[in-house]
Amino acid sequence: MQTIAQALDKLERSKFRSGFHLTKKEQAYLDEKGMDVIRRHAEDFVHQKLAPADPVNDGRQTPMHGHPVFKAMHATACCCRGCLNKWYKVPLHRELTGSEEQRIVNLLMAWIDRNYRPHDQIGE
Ligand SMILES: [Zn+2]
Repeated sequence: MQTIAQALDKLERSKFRSGFHLTKKEQAYLDEKGMDVIRRHAEDFVHQKLAPADPVNDGRQTPMHGHPVFKAMHATACCCRGCLNKWYKVPLHRELTGSEEQRIVNLLMAWIDRNYRPHDQIGE
């Protein structure tokens, strides 16, 4: 099994996946909420959107923006069960286990951590 660092390195070699970045608005949202709250949001989104055996509208259930976790889900190929299957060999048509959900949340938070800059350091 690959580590989070290996997964992030592999994602960075994908032109599509590495094209996602946090906007200033999403960074401001991180500033405002803090990482503990964002992790709880990530847990909720993963549980609602990815954990069911056959998620509603699979492949289109994750908006492209509007929340830093959505951005992270696309950037890490944790946006739908099809991508989880392709990238991480997670079987389709069965519920995710609690530990799979936790591993996904850990990867999402690691991506956010790697891509997050505190507000006053943004040079734009
Ligand atoms: Zn997907």
